[in-house]
Amino acid sequence: MNDTDSKPRPGPKIIPRSGHTISRAGISRSALKVLYRLDKGGYQAFLVGGGVRDLLLGREPKDFDVATNARPEEVRQLFGNSRLIGRRFKLAHVRFGREIVEVVTFRGAADVEHDDRQHADSGRILRDNVFGAIEEDVWRRDFTVNALYYNIADFTIWDFTTGIEDVASRTLRLIGDPETRYREDPVRMLRAIRFAAKLGFEIAQESAEPIERLGALLRDVPPARLFDETLKLFQAGHAVRGLELLLQYNLLQYLFPYTAGSIAQDSSGGVLQLIREGLKNTDRRVTTDQSVTPMFLYAVMLWYPIRDAAKQLEMRDGLRETEAMLIANDTIVSGQQHYTAFPKRFSMPMKDILVMQQRLTNRRGARAQRLLEHKRFRAAYDFLLLRAACGEADQQLADWWTEVQGLAPDEQHKAFDVKRPRRRKPRRPRRRDSPPGEPP
Ligand code: ATP
Ligand code: MG
Repeated sequence: MNDTDSKPRPGPKIIPRSGHTISRAGISRSALKVLYRLDKGGYQAFLVGGGVRDLLLGREPKDFDVATNARPEEVRQLFGNSRLIGRRFKLAHVRFGREIVEVVTFRGAADVEHDDRQHADSGRILRDNVFGAIEEDVWRRDFTVNALYYNIADFTIWDFTTGIEDVASRTLRLIGDPETRYREDPVRMLRAIRFAAKLGFEIAQESAEPIERLGALLRDVPPARLFDETLKLFQAGHAVRGLELLLQYNLLQYLFPYTAGSIAQDSSGGVLQLIREGLKNTDRRVTTDQSVTPMFLYAVMLWYPIRDAAKQLEMRDGLRETEAMLIANDTIVSGQQHYTAFPKRFSMPMKDILVMQQRLTNRRGARAQRLLEHKRFRAAYDFLLLRAACGEADQQLADWWTEVQGLAPDEQHKAFDVKRPRRRKPRRPRRRDSPPGEPP
């Protein structure tokens, strides 16, 4: 069933409207508009991918993807509110306010036999930009449950694989020969884990088997793409399950090698506990529609590696605490960039909150008090609470910072043992400072 297979392929099973649960009420108005206008324009128009899968499962889809036989330029002409994106493989984004409907032209099967240059030695697909028909498009998709097509022309579902059965039995099954498909695009291993975590599906045995063996192929994936995948895995409300699966399949090392190292070296279980608790927080925030940030995710992942490296610098090289922390932070953050990108807008604030963990142990004096006004105080304090909850920081210290935030100014000065700053008499302006003719 894979790309290199030249046997004739079966046509789709077509499930009539009466045989499935997808109704137009579950599809966004914007996606419906796109589907109908393509249809009226004489093109095929299908809802495809996560939208169909999630609707069959009774879940609210994250977004709607449309597949069509219209070429990107034709889609562009049909929709004034669209633009073409992608260099290698063009597709159209149709915008309705904040919602974007992605319209993808069916892809053709790569003509592998006639062009070896389409695959790298590892089997990775390098070029992938031929248009085709739906009968070819389906075999390029990753999992059977992601390859169901809902036809707007008559509300049928087209299933070329075992998608419907696999939705019913909650099975994540790669289309075609698993090893070939993972070699073509190693990110599919992470997608398997992401969908298993998100949907609570079991990965089919034959799709699961090669993952641990082929994990190292992830080293060839650009760090920017792994960063995107990492966020989809850890910031979409199923981070804890995602982590368990990454550990089970031994893949954490390709995303967070320092973290995987700390976990492996830690016999107390404390490292994993902090990460689990941190990810639980994130999942809770996602479920309750609160904002989440990669800064916090990376702080949770990199805290132990950075802390341990800093301790070593203190002991081995006699560095002072803060300096050791800063150097350890920079070393590990720049090492991490070879695996997943970690943009400065997140790594800079993370450094602040990690370094502040030490400064928060100091409760006396004006400097300590000024931490309350630091723009990262809230994040650093939240991180301290997390550490305390895991027994990695002093709970009394965390409680003290909780209390002190609620105190009136006078009480607060006392708590920090700061003498109340004497109220200065307003200084009389010196004559020569004020320009002539203007009041001082
Ligand atoms: P969700 O949007 O809920 O995360 P999705 O299934 O829609 O899940 P997308 O990443 O939006 O996933 O991709 C849309 C569809 O494109 C997928 O359902 C799949 O059919 C196809 N697809 C995406 N990435 C790949 C890939 N790496 N290999 C093969 N097919 C892919
Ligand atoms: Mg999608």
